[in-house]
Amino acid sequence: MKYSRYNGTSSCDLKARVTFRDKKQLKEAIEAYRILGEYNLIIKKSDKVGVKVFCLGEGCKFRLWASKMTNEASFQIRTMDAPHVSLRL
Ligand SMILES: [Zn+2]
Repeated sequence: MKYSRYNGTSSCDLKARVTFRDKKQLKEAIEAYRILGEYNLIIKKSDKVGVKVFCLGEGCKFRLWASKMTNEASFQIRTMDAPHVSLRL
């Protein structure tokens, strides 16, 4: 399956199969995405295996799961359930 490498720009293009150089870059991207969208994201889990992110927005079902790729430091977004539920009217 084809996947794209995160290019580290401010586009914050997080989606399934985007790959990051390492966990540090993944976390930076999540942080940039959180700030840009003003999302209430929390990192639920972060270890050698992967990173799990939830959104605390009320009624929001956003979930992101990224895991480490075999034999390299890269992390890839496996699943990302978006979009966010916006309660702003
Ligand atoms: Zn949300």
